[in-house]
Amino acid sequence: MNDIVVDWVVDTMKWLVKTAKDDYACNRHPKVAGALLIPVHNDSKSIFAGVHSAFYGNTIPAIEDTCKKVGCDIEYTVLPEDILDARAGLVNAFHTHCVRTVHAEQRAIDIAARDGVPIDGATLFSVLRPCYQCSKHIVVAGIRKIYFAGTVYNEERTRKLLRENGVECTFIEAGLEY
Ligand SMILES: [Zn+2]
Ligand SMILES: [Zn+2]
Repeated sequence: MNDIVVDWVVDTMKWLVKTAKDDYACNRHPKVAGALLIPVHNDSKSIFAGVHSAFYGNTIPAIEDTCKKVGCDIEYTVLPEDILDARAGLVNAFHTHCVRTVHAEQRAIDIAARDGVPIDGATLFSVLRPCYQCSKHIVVAGIRKIYFAGTVYNEERTRKLLRENGVECTFIEAGLEY
């Protein structure tokens, strides 16, 4: 990437991180998530016009019952290594996560579908490295490039999925703190 492109990418990510922190609807770590989807079909306009016409997605801010009001909807995930930990008597052997929210990346894709905007070949700015579930949607939706600022979902199976499907992933230093 040349310097002009890098400046634009970093500035966009910093804006997204700041905006996403203000809107986060869940109580759970990392307390920030957000996605900005830039359709390839806006390339005929300037880069900044592309940003303005793209889609911002966080959790479900339109729904009143956010986790902050009614609490999280927790599910337990059992991974093979967790079972060994549980048999060994270790506490916290099972992963938990909140399923009340729609992840930012999926929501951005949903909004594009709702509004009839083609996103094949699009670029996704995501505050966090997308999780395994979101990554599958990203591949199927035809998104080709991801910029991310946080690495909490840094799983090998996710990196492999994206790599094998030709989705380019680039970390952007945007001063993100959890
Ligand atoms: Zn929650
Ligand atoms: Zn996700």
